[in-house]
Amino acid sequence: MTFSDFQFAPEVQEGLLSMGYKNPTPIQAQAIPLVLDGNDLLGCAQTGTGKTAAFTIPILQLLSANKNFDKKKKIRSLIVTPTRELAIQIGESFKAYGRHTGLTCSVIFGGVSQGAQVNALRTGVDVVIATPGRLLDLMNQGFLSLRDVEIFVLDEADRMLDMGFIHDVKKLLTVLPKQRQSLFFSATMPPEIQRLTTAFLHNPVRVEVSRPSSTAETITQMLVKVPHEQKGKREALRQLLKTQTNVKNGIIFANRKTTVALLEKSLSVHGFNVGALHGDMDQSARLKTLQGFRNNEITFLIASDVAARGLDIPE
Ligand code: AMP
Repeated sequence: MTFSDFQFAPEVQEGLLSMGYKNPTPIQAQAIPLVLDGNDLLGCAQTGTGKTAAFTIPILQLLSANKNFDKKKKIRSLIVTPTRELAIQIGESFKAYGRHTGLTCSVIFGGVSQGAQVNALRTGVDVVIATPGRLLDLMNQGFLSLRDVEIFVLDEADRMLDMGFIHDVKKLLTVLPKQRQSLFFSATMPPEIQRLTTAFLHNPVRVEVSRPSSTAETITQMLVKVPHEQKGKREALRQLLKTQTNVKNGIIFANRKTTVALLEKSLSVHGFNVGALHGDMDQSARLKTLQGFRNNEITFLIASDVAARGLDIPE
């Protein structure tokens, strides 16, 4: 699938072209047609999946299809996000994707004086990207009206909850026009967010993508060809462990508990300092091995996938 399949207006297409985007990411491929069709959306996706463009691009398309240009611009789309950094980042994406559309946006957040933000609002903008506190504040002071919002985006809803903004969000939702399209994005779905969704979205379509896999920057990746049979594989592993002299420690993953046990025995017979970790060990033995690895008493940890998640071992 390519972006040309969506048949965006030429000015939207051009924005994508100048960004060098050809193919939509999975969340974009799922979300864009649904948003263009006017659906409410519940997107389970994290940063890094391309979710910003998943809502920004269809919003640009919907707003430019009906430019509604008048002298005094109205806020036609509101994007609310928990942090100032995110608001700025989304604002930059919006400007980049929308640079050929003539649509304008303004970013509003707390912690700085409101003067410049108020001035930008006075000139009139099509889209506001904001953190909830300052937005409500400016609204209460009469500097902006949300009466004409057609599309509302709540980004990182779960983080909004964690940061104590849920009350502000609820307040916002009650002042927005009833007739609107709402797009909620959240990496997780705690009960409070589910309740919010049930109360404020109309028949939302749910789309979900998982985080793209990523590797810690401190890890060098290599591919080593080894013989197919077990003995040859073990020999290749020993050679590798011997030649990588700058390696202080390591985790060797095996996909069977029996392989973990076998490797532990074999490597220790060959004089390597090893420990084993797998799901058949009781919790205290597992913790003891992990502690030993952490303290550098164990150089090589041989592990099944019980060790694959959530372990934070420095260096
Ligand atoms: P996000 O998850 O929205 O923070 O996006 C993650 C990164 O992916 C950003 O640097 C985007 O510029 C980039 N990106 C988003 N969509 C695409 C796409 N369709 N093709 C290439 N890069 C993209």
